[in-house]
Amino acid sequence: MARVFLTYRLPESGVALLEAAGHNVAVRSQESLITTPELISAFQTYEAVITLLTDAVTREVLLQAGPQLKVIANYAVGYDNIDIATAKERGIVVTNTPDILTEAVSEHAVVLLAALARRVVEADAYTRAGKYTGWRPELLLGTELKGRVFGIVGLGRIGRDTAQRAHYGFGMEIVYHDRDRDEAFESEFKARFCSTVDELLPLVDAVSLHVPLTRETRHLMNAERLMLMKPTAFLVNTARGPVVDEVALVTALREGVIAGAALDVFEHEPALTAGLQDLPNVILTPHIGSATVETRSAMSELAARNVIAVLSGTPPLTPVNA
Ligand code: NAP
Repeated sequence: MARVFLTYRLPESGVALLEAAGHNVAVRSQESLITTPELISAFQTYEAVITLLTDAVTREVLLQAGPQLKVIANYAVGYDNIDIATAKERGIVVTNTPDILTEAVSEHAVVLLAALARRVVEADAYTRAGKYTGWRPELLLGTELKGRVFGIVGLGRIGRDTAQRAHYGFGMEIVYHDRDRDEAFESEFKARFCSTVDELLPLVDAVSLHVPLTRETRHLMNAERLMLMKPTAFLVNTARGPVVDEVALVTALREGVIAGAALDVFEHEPALTAGLQDLPNVILTPHIGSATVETRSAMSELAARNVIAVLSGTPPLTPVNA
């Protein structure tokens, strides 16, 4: 029997799997996020820790981990919160939760896109405020998505699924940028590959970001790149906040450089960059891309299965630093 620590309570199905495997599960009960001293203490006590994407598993924290710590199972597909190289150096396995959240996140990306194009949030506020006094031919006109060009930056699991939904669901044309070209994808979706983001941006009516947060992708959307977009174009970010320079975005939205943006993630999460919340052409959701009952339970189960595998000496299902 090993000791497993959850830095925050998770859907019960994962905990049940850990207990059924005979492990002793401790769950941090506070609503607040775990502090660095608490995380270090957990890393010195438990054989396995399930972390949230908001837990800063830095080199400093990992260097203080005890020799008993075998696995850190991140409750997310992204793992930019963990110093992977140091974990590897210390012989600690890191796992994530890919695939099972792809559909939930890509659904959210296209929901945000459609909400922007059809001004859904603005229209809701207008109606609630009692401003709807009767049908008018030009009331809250939006943009149709059919035939528009949709750019995907990062053609991985979520980017690909988002392209599929926009293409088959809304009839959009697809252009994409990734480090690798995918000719099978191009022929299935009649998609155009752009070897740089700079080549893609002037072509699109909307762009959706799906790259992980890395040194290369931090501020990928900066002032210069926003200037490359059409003034009628939209930006959707369900990837990671710092992929967008939000100060530059606020200026671009204020000055009409682009038409609108929908953000599920924020550069200084949970804080909002000054000016963002005052803009009418922005939709903001609190990092709920994977937040469906089904997906969050599946993530809990996958994190648990990864822990169980490592603790029983078998390979984890979805390792990050194998
Ligand atoms: P994925 O399958 O690894 O896809 C990422 C794609 O981006 C890969 O094709 C990758 O190429 C490419 N890429 C990486 N760096 C690049 C660069 N510098 N330039 C161009 N392309 C680059 O990951 P995923 O499962 O689709 O998830 C994508 C991201 O979504 C996650 O990392 C996470 O940050 C975010 N996410 C957000 C939510 C939410 O709640 N909003 C939920 C889940 C995930 P390689 O294969 O060559 O690396």
